Amino acid sequence: MKSVTEILEQLKAIAENPRAQKDALIASGKKVVLTAPVYTPEELVHSLGMVPMGAWGGDIELMEAKRYFPAFICSIVQSLVELGIKGVYDGVSAVIIPSLCDSLKVVGENWKYAVPNIPFLPMTYPQNRKPEYGKEFTKKGYEKLIEELEKISGETFEDGKLAQSIRIYNEHNALMRELSEVLADHPEVTAAQRSVVFKSAFFMLKEEHSKVIRELLEALKEQKPGEAKIKIMTTGILADSPSLLNIIDSNGLQIVADDVAAESRQYRTDALEDTTALDSLSGKFCAMDHCSVLYDVEKKRIDLIVETAKNHGARGVLMVLTKFCDPEEFDYPLIKKACDAAGLPIILIEVDRQMENYEQAGTMIETFKDMLGKNS
Ligand code: SF4
Repeated sequence: MKSVTEILEQLKAIAENPRAQKDALIASGKKVVLTAPVYTPEELVHSLGMVPMGAWGGDIELMEAKRYFPAFICSIVQSLVELGIKGVYDGVSAVIIPSLCDSLKVVGENWKYAVPNIPFLPMTYPQNRKPEYGKEFTKKGYEKLIEELEKISGETFEDGKLAQSIRIYNEHNALMRELSEVLADHPEVTAAQRSVVFKSAFFMLKEEHSKVIRELLEALKEQKPGEAKIKIMTTGILADSPSLLNIIDSNGLQIVADDVAAESRQYRTDALEDTTALDSLSGKFCAMDHCSVLYDVEKKRIDLIVETAKNHGARGVLMVLTKFCDPEEFDYPLIKKACDAAGLPIILIEVDRQMENYEQAGTMIETFKDMLGKNS
């Protein structure tokens, strides 16, 4: 049996080099379709025999993308286009970009001109997803996407194959939820290591990632938990910056739970039995909640953050705010108010994908740690 460290190293190698993973898949004869964040229906791509690969941009200096966007648009979107222009995604068969925030809504038209060699497939989601018409709208959007994916794959869509893909994705969701809970009891697994577990999932077939996660769960059962650290919870869209994770680790903090879109948020909702597999997948999107990009007048996400932090014994909340991310900026004052009312210290660290200097973030996290230490 492999050790926890060996498995984490294996996942790190994949998380750090998605390009190699993409090139190897294409060389093996697979078609790869990029799935931009968030809630892109990967199961459709998977059911047509292709490999969905998460595309959340990368830490890169923005040069070419600046010709297509104003400066005040989030760096995930800009770096996605920058990587496309630079040829990093060459060889993939298409990119699917959903329409869930204002930044994502404008990427597609720019992508067509900036990266003409990779077809852009839009996925338009309804704002009101709870009423029956919201589900119908979602289903129609998926049907349109299927038509395009059929042309690219050369395969014909089959509902039975989608049902198989949904099973694989539901199983992966459950494993990721279980792993997040198990990791909360293993402070020796660093924030940087925890991050590669989530990140690697974007670049592997889910059935293969599930296999590795099962091995990791087994290996963790055999490993004695390390010395306790100060427990925190993270929230935000993306929190994978190596510099930020190193600061968290060097301050002796442990992430015991997260509400990060690129981490646990995407694994909360399964597709449930329905008339057809396509209905089931449409229902999955409509059942989703607790997210800044999903319309919710009650803002149930706020209470969930407080509840999750308390249930996991987190002493504070770290909000990692992607610069110029409107949906998260709107939620922050409400999150802060709820955390304050619950006696849960919270700090906000603003990041973007071009950030090199983390000195200010380091000072803020050090002060935060001292404050949490005193509260213990
Ligand atoms: S980080 Fe925010 S603004 Fe950027 S794509 Fe995600 S939700 Fe939209």
